[in-house]
Amino acid sequence: MKSFRKEITVTTKKRYDIVHITPLVEEALRESGIREGICLVNPMHITASIFINDNESGLHADFLEWLEHLAPYNPKGYRHNVGEDNGDAHLKRQIMGREAVIAVTNGKLDFGTWEQIFYGEFDGQRPKRILIKIIGE
Ligand code: ZN
Repeated sequence: MKSFRKEITVTTKKRYDIVHITPLVEEALRESGIREGICLVNPMHITASIFINDNESGLHADFLEWLEHLAPYNPKGYRHNVGEDNGDAHLKRQIMGREAVIAVTNGKLDFGTWEQIFYGEFDGQRPKRILIKIIGE
């Protein structure tokens, strides 16, 4: 069995953003040389998410609006916000999840028709790391 590890860094211009990262994960899979196995992708931060959904801008705007409704930005409104202001970002990340696991079949990410991988940033404007770990043969 082979094991491959790669970190990529994303810096968003906005505090909240959704970034399509499927091509970066496909590049890592090519580098790994693994044809059959499992690919794990997770942010190495607790105010960001990796999730799989549709690559459609209206849906992404809907996600961000929905998250803002559930956990609005409010520097004084969270018990976590003692010396920081990202209480909302921790809650948003929890709703959107931590990681994605994708089957690798015949050297490709084995997606359903509309599945793509996204990085959800909820406290951005600084470098954030994403881990890609691929195991298999
Ligand atoms: Zn925090």
